[in-house]
Amino acid sequence: MTGTKVFSQFPFDSRVFVAGHSGLVGSAIVRALGRHGFTNVVVRSRAELDLLDQLAVQRFFAREHIDFVFLVAAKVGGILYNASHQADFLYENLMISANVIKAAADFGVEKLLYTGSSCIYPKLSPQPIAEEALLSGPLEPTNEGYALAKIAGLKLCEKFHSQYGKRFVSVMPTNMYGPNDNFHPDHSHVIPGMMRRFHEAKEQGVRAVTVWGTGQPRREFLYVDDFAEAALVIMDQYEEPTTINVGTGEDVTIRHLAEQMAEVVGFRGEIVFDTSKPDGMMRKVLDVSRVQSLGWKPTVSLTEGLSRAYSWALRNGIFASASLSVEKPSLA
Ligand code: GDP
Repeated sequence: MTGTKVFSQFPFDSRVFVAGHSGLVGSAIVRALGRHGFTNVVVRSRAELDLLDQLAVQRFFAREHIDFVFLVAAKVGGILYNASHQADFLYENLMISANVIKAAADFGVEKLLYTGSSCIYPKLSPQPIAEEALLSGPLEPTNEGYALAKIAGLKLCEKFHSQYGKRFVSVMPTNMYGPNDNFHPDHSHVIPGMMRRFHEAKEQGVRAVTVWGTGQPRREFLYVDDFAEAALVIMDQYEEPTTINVGTGEDVTIRHLAEQMAEVVGFRGEIVFDTSKPDGMMRKVLDVSRVQSLGWKPTVSLTEGLSRAYSWALRNGIFASASLSVEKPSLA
């Protein structure tokens, strides 16, 4: 599939910087840009450009004449890793957002798309969570540091929009998964973490797999290539300073996810719940009417997405390699 859509405000020959191109989201955006015929895509490894280094980021933008930026670089991690590294999550994500957004403003970037996460919304938000729920109550404590940094980034875009007329927009995706996810057993989000555990249990003939928490929390999951398509549509069409949610609008319990995972991986044993691990928010499903009004909708079902992610992990030897190859769940 190439160039199936014509983007009127996002020309395919523009110079596009994807900050965080090697991670789950960034790599999906690079794939989507490729599918739509974008040929002038700029990426930098962390060794080439450290986004925590303000001077390096300023010099990069001064030199590269970037037109459009997808700011999807972030330090990310699952519930346990996030909860126990809150200073790092707050500091690094604040710095990445501040450095890139300010440099984009200083060096004439035409439009910037910033990504956060549905965890920016208050713990007790009415469900499904509409964009208006932002800052209406206390945050979920297990990811407060990360959420605060993401809220600051979102607000930075909003303020550059209102004070300087910058076309900086922010997007809040739900839980995403797919190729290039972090499959670390302890640091990862639920889908890759569970996938590794179910796979290893099947391979080793273990009779029971442990799933964290009670199994009762509900989560919404979006295949990352669906998100990338939404991100391109938003880059083209969305000009509001307020954020926009991207998700499926449908959620499942963690128990249901575990049962689907067992089926996809081919694990036939028992599923046990470790209630000493945190549940986090009991429900987190987004109101997606705003993004749907732009004409976007997801195309990959949960079962299909899990199968694709599992095939990708097998093809890329993810479970064979030492899990420490994904030790640094950063700059996704
Ligand atoms: P959250 O959406 O920010 O809470 O992030 P996670 O994706 O890390 O966790 C989602 C839910 O899945 C939580 O209720 C976890 O307790 C539960 N969960 C079950 N098994 C796992 C696992 O192996 N890894 C992770 N990260 N979460 C798990």
